[in-house]
Amino acid sequence: MPDDLFGDPHPPTERPLRKRRAREEDQRTIPQRITDCARFADLYTLTRVLEDARPRPRGGRRAHYPPYIYLVFLAVRGVFGSARGTAGHLQHPSVWHEIKKGVAEHLGNDEAARLPELGPSRNHWQHAQRTLLIPRLDGLNAAYQTLALRQALNQGLLPPGAPRSWSHPQRHQLLVGDGTVAKAPTLATAPYTVDETTGEIRRRRLDPAAWTQTEGGGTRVRGTKFIVFSARHTGYLRRVLISYRHVPHRHPGGEAAAATEAVTDLLGHPDAAGCLGLVYDGALRGTHRDTIQRRGRLLINKQHEGLTPIPLHTLDFPRCRHELWAVGGRVAERIWCEDGTSAFTPLPITRLQRRGEHTHRWYHQITIPCPHGPHHHREPVGITTTPGERAPGQSDLERKFHRAEHLVPIPPNTYTHDEIYSHRDDAESVFTQFDRHLWNGRLIAFGAEAQSLVMLGFLLAQNATSAARHQEDPTPQQP
Ligand SMILES: [Zn+2]
Repeated sequence: MPDDLFGDPHPPTERPLRKRRAREEDQRTIPQRITDCARFADLYTLTRVLEDARPRPRGGRRAHYPPYIYLVFLAVRGVFGSARGTAGHLQHPSVWHEIKKGVAEHLGNDEAARLPELGPSRNHWQHAQRTLLIPRLDGLNAAYQTLALRQALNQGLLPPGAPRSWSHPQRHQLLVGDGTVAKAPTLATAPYTVDETTGEIRRRRLDPAAWTQTEGGGTRVRGTKFIVFSARHTGYLRRVLISYRHVPHRHPGGEAAAATEAVTDLLGHPDAAGCLGLVYDGALRGTHRDTIQRRGRLLINKQHEGLTPIPLHTLDFPRCRHELWAVGGRVAERIWCEDGTSAFTPLPITRLQRRGEHTHRWYHQITIPCPHGPHHHREPVGITTTPGERAPGQSDLERKFHRAEHLVPIPPNTYTHDEIYSHRDDAESVFTQFDRHLWNGRLIAFGAEAQSLVMLGFLLAQNATSAARHQEDPTPQQP
């Protein structure tokens, strides 16, 4: 019997330990991270989005600080997790001196010399956030994604010309995505409360973006939902955060639809040509796999629990008969025992094929062991065909078989799937860091737009350090 292309899963006790201990160069101090932000070229490129906000030569007072300073502020706030802490640091002469050095590096000494003596205050920031950044949030997000993809390519991630194996994609050829609920800045759910003894009415500031959501573990959290996509090699501080999406309350299709829209947009970008697919959790289902896999990329996630085996075909040969079913994401044979009971045996997959140019199709080449000699069978996987894509009456939709849900290119419970799916822990660690960086572990702004800026600043700060580490040591792969 041939070996399965994807291998047997490791027994849980024998899983290799993937994490290595952090070394000295894996640590980044706060002053280093501020310098990383000040020297981060993308911040200065991103300023083009704010160009129309440049102070006009005539009329009005010249803005105190040029727009790019507020992008530096945004990124540094992604280190401190509070505007107050950021303003405090930028108003410290030695920290501001570091910022000016970064400005001089990218925009020249003259520009740096024109800057005020000290950095902007929290009031300056709040004004800039309201009048400069929030009105241009969509432009900033789009430009960020383009720059982050370019950064990923520079750092050897999603390499366009690299050898690719659809059955064994490498970690740095995949995107990892996940959703999180960032805790609302306040627990208040009503605009005012009445003190029952004194009758005093107290006003409460409400967060218009917050809603109560159930997280993966079943815990209820009130806050704002975000999705983040990233790519990385094995090394520490090397991750590049490619894009993020805010998921509004009652977004049609929820997180799963928002993630699919976001990743479809991302994969359509010319700089994402080297990306082989997305790793995501069980929030995505067959219909989302169908969308992504039709576009020729893999969606690697777990099978939904509660799916039952579905009969596929019965192969009739002169001397034998084989019942094929879809079980656990792949083709299995139903084997009958003498006592009338039956069991499913997964059939070895010898090849995963991807075909097509614009719309893609995926196939498993399967071997069916038999005492009369093995049989070979090819089964389409990964997409659910619609009327017109097959002979009349033969499409999956007409046969009411949701193929993308039941048959997946890289089936779970295999060595390959376990290995790839373990990269998803990485997405969770991004959110752990995000929560930890926030003052008090709660969002530091009210409303979806200001909160999106909090996420954008955090991503910029992370990418700034990733870029700086790459400059210091361009070896992408680290043991
Ligand atoms: Zn046979």
